[in-house]
Amino acid sequence: MAIIEVMESSGPRRRLRARSPVSLEPIGEFECATAEDVRLAVERARKAQSDWARLDFDARAEVLYRLLDQFVQRQDEVIDAVVQETGKARSDAIALEVYAPCDALAYYAKNAKRFLKPEKRRIHGLLGLAKKLRIVYEPLGVVGLITPWNGPVALSVVPLAQALMAGNAVVHKPSEVTPFSALTVKRFTEDAGFPPDLYQVVQGDGETGAALIEAGVDKISFTGSVATGRRVAEACGKRLIPHTLELGGKDAMIVCADADIDRAAEGAVLGSCMNTGHYCCGTERVYVVDAIYEPFLAKVIERTRQLRQSDQGESDVGAVFWDKQLDIIESHMEDARNKGAVVHVGGRRNPNLKGLYYEPTVVSEVNHDMALMTQETFGPIVSIMRVRDEEEAIRWANDSEFGLNGNVWTTDTERGFRLAERVESGGVCINDMAMTYGIHEAPFGGVKNSGLGVVNSEAGLRGYCHAKPISADRRGKGKIQGGYPYTVKSEAGMQKLIRFWWGGRLGRWFS
Ligand code: NAD
Repeated sequence: MAIIEVMESSGPRRRLRARSPVSLEPIGEFECATAEDVRLAVERARKAQSDWARLDFDARAEVLYRLLDQFVQRQDEVIDAVVQETGKARSDAIALEVYAPCDALAYYAKNAKRFLKPEKRRIHGLLGLAKKLRIVYEPLGVVGLITPWNGPVALSVVPLAQALMAGNAVVHKPSEVTPFSALTVKRFTEDAGFPPDLYQVVQGDGETGAALIEAGVDKISFTGSVATGRRVAEACGKRLIPHTLELGGKDAMIVCADADIDRAAEGAVLGSCMNTGHYCCGTERVYVVDAIYEPFLAKVIERTRQLRQSDQGESDVGAVFWDKQLDIIESHMEDARNKGAVVHVGGRRNPNLKGLYYEPTVVSEVNHDMALMTQETFGPIVSIMRVRDEEEAIRWANDSEFGLNGNVWTTDTERGFRLAERVESGGVCINDMAMTYGIHEAPFGGVKNSGLGVVNSEAGLRGYCHAKPISADRRGKGKIQGGYPYTVKSEAGMQKLIRFWWGGRLGRWFS
């Protein structure tokens, strides 16, 4: 039974119906915005943006703090909306969809002023004697935000906070799998007294997302799969729109011989199963050195067996959010089994629950001929591969088209840093996992096929701006240096200056 179904519609807008992955019952219908709806939304946003950009940082922060108040006071509304349409565990919803947005709103409201204040920069060398330089950070205009279903609130509000503090308006196309979480955020912004049209939501699927790129936006902030990311990049390329792409991952975990086995086993299970494994920085491959392989595997099996999966009350591992993802998980597991993988725990749909539940799974004897170790599985599966030593672990970790994050487990932190530097990924955690997205001081972005550009941190915030250099003469009077008329004498003088300035140590030292 499809979670998202196309319904009959009499008007120009396609109509979709969403089902709960927990009960499989319908939870609501929504209309997809047409290309014209999206174009009009961008037009309205542009008007709202010109007033918003005139506000100073404190005034913008005030508005964000009011949204933060909504999140703090109405946590259950967010949790209920997200759990209803995704089936994720309540604790996952609190950590990802309430804590993370609150932290981002507070961080950028407080720090944007510091990160984006006009900067004086010293000019090097000869030009510095004559000129001064100032950089101002101007908003880009209207940002098109396109988001996935695995973190429907966090992955919307974190970039929203940055785009707004930088002085932009935002038109947001959420995933068709999670339309109601987006409406909750929209309702909060209205109740927080956001200026009209500063943040708008256009519902729909890929067609609406494609229309947003064509609708005259000034930047696209995209989070989603590699395949869609490529299409988004092509469309942005045609229109020369700046874009960031936060794409899929296949994070590797490296467990060294000196790792704290208890902590590492706990990290493997949590890293692989949190958010039902639907986490871009989720642990998808575990490489364990031979010396501790057996006790590590035994601990992971023991801990995974303790996980509770339920559609009522307390539960550790929630439902798979979308039937299409369940198909991928099942096909990867079938492929792995056919190629000799050994399933220790789980490895099947939960027969006791009606909804889309896949049992927390531990699988070993895996290798890189299996989709489970090379493609993004996005399910609650701990896939463990035995390696000879850390060198071999690094080789396999880097044998991937993805490079989002990764983690290294060792009791020698300095050694951890050295190994982390050799992992080809956008970021690495030592003795923890999936933390980098939540640390706002850290620029977040993938390498290889995992993305383009960075979000979060000072660098991510500045990505929502045009950094405009403004230069001026120090004195601002008299003749322009190097101006007309060009003469033999002035040319000879210029060449002499070049020889003097860069031909010897003194000039090079000054430059
Ligand atoms: P997806 O690529 O299918 O969809 C993402 C969004 O793009 C949705 O809103 C979708 O409607 C829209 N879309 C689809 N076709 C489009 C088109 N042609 N033009 C414009 N928009 C279009 O991804 P998904 O299945 O929703 O999300 C899961 C993926 O997201 C996973 O690969 C996961 O790793 C990745 N992800 C990455 C990060 C990160 O920060 N790197 C974070 C979360 C999720």
